[in-house]
Amino acid sequence: MSKDWDYDIFISGAGMVGCSLALGLASTGLKIAIIDATQLKQSDKTTFDERGITLSLASKRIFENLGLWQALQSSSYPIKQVHISEQNRFAFTRLRANEMNVDALGYVVIASTLGNGLRKSLSQHDNIEFICPAELKSFELTQQGMRVTWQQEGSERSARAGLLIGADGSCSLTRRLAGINTEQHDFKQTAIVANVSTEKRNQYTAYERFTPHGPIALLPVAENRSVLVYVVNSEDADYCLSLDDPQFLARVQSETGRRLGRLITVGVRRSYPIFYQNAVRQYQPQLLLLGNAVHTIHPNSAQGFNLGLRDVAGLAEVIKQSLVNGLTLDDVRILERYVDNRTEDQKRIINFTNGLAEHFYHQQIVSNLLRDVAMIGIDSLPFLKKQLMQLTMGMLGRQPELVRYSMQQEIV
Ligand SMILES: Cc1cc2nc3c(=O)[nH]c(=O)nc-3n(C[C@H](O)[C@H](O)[C@H](O)COP(=O)(O)OP(=O)(O)OC[C@H]3O[C@@H](n4cnc5c(N)ncnc54)[C@H](O)[C@@H]3O)c2cc1C
Repeated sequence: MSKDWDYDIFISGAGMVGCSLALGLASTGLKIAIIDATQLKQSDKTTFDERGITLSLASKRIFENLGLWQALQSSSYPIKQVHISEQNRFAFTRLRANEMNVDALGYVVIASTLGNGLRKSLSQHDNIEFICPAELKSFELTQQGMRVTWQQEGSERSARAGLLIGADGSCSLTRRLAGINTEQHDFKQTAIVANVSTEKRNQYTAYERFTPHGPIALLPVAENRSVLVYVVNSEDADYCLSLDDPQFLARVQSETGRRLGRLITVGVRRSYPIFYQNAVRQYQPQLLLLGNAVHTIHPNSAQGFNLGLRDVAGLAEVIKQSLVNGLTLDDVRILERYVDNRTEDQKRIINFTNGLAEHFYHQQIVSNLLRDVAMIGIDSLPFLKKQLMQLTMGMLGRQPELVRYSMQQEIV
């Protein structure tokens, strides 16, 4: 530790992003505390529930380079093809892994499996300390560093850190206490997520269908099983959740067609409100926001965590380089450089997901025709299609080293 701090880095939030950052920095030997309001094993109530999370190729590479992929691989399911269509329209497009010379465009992992893997990996590092369950309460920038205060087992505790990371989700207390405003948009949509079993094998294909009430995705998790992400207008969400299983499946089937044959069974349905939120500032001295705390985006193309993980990779890279160059963690140039490096990718993904959310739900004739042309255009213009695939794989533009370096030498 370069200064008289209790911790070099204090991470608020042991969700997917907070844990990934701790893993990304584990090898530096920096002393890291990671606090979370929930019990570590309380998988059903935390970010690490039974949702299927699509990891992009870039995310797979990051985890591979951090030594986590090896533990996730056996429980991940490859997506070799994505079939994109629109309800009641003739045009569709297919994105295939072999067009990009890769084994898979992405992988579906159950969030709880990812959480267990991350936490198990972190428990092997002595320089990482979990403070759970405990709630961050306040922080203050002092001459001796960032003084962080939290509540644990009924008493208040505090420590000084070189850098505070707010990875505490969409309602981030860190962001609110820092007085950082957000731009917001409520899509008035709710995602209903559940496992479904299907009559036909999915053959490693993910289906994404756009409908007037939002996208419907079927993500493969086993030969005859997919994770359904069914987005509806929020006013219809309670009704959809109240249907019994056969009624719910009949409704989904009527909108998704029979490419996977009959939808046979559906597991527990969970619902998530959908909104966009972007912090107007990502950092201030000795404080940085990450993950949903800084940008919460529409799940229409499964980009939220993937973007957050590339931010984690970018931050870990800048911190490592800066320490080698003799900077200390309280040096604001570290955060400036990180934001400079990452802004382009963040803007691209935010524009893409907001653009999809905006354009696919208009039912005017002109919008319908434009979307047909877009689908056909993507299929017949290889350059455009390659760009789209690189974007969804997290490989477009300048990316952190952990993304650029592949152990398997895929060509993208
Ligand atoms: C339906 C749906 C499907 C999605 N599918 C995908 C997908 O396929 N691929 C993808 O990349 N992304 C997907 N996403 C997005 C992804 O879920 C998020 O990007 C990701 O969960 C963000 O993680 P996070 O760690 O930033 O925040 P969170 O998961 O919200 O974690 C924040 C953590 O902070 C803790 N915390 C909060 N306040 C405090 C406090 N005061 N003190 C201590 N701890 C605190 C919480 O307990 C929590 O553990 C999806 C989102 C939805 C809604």
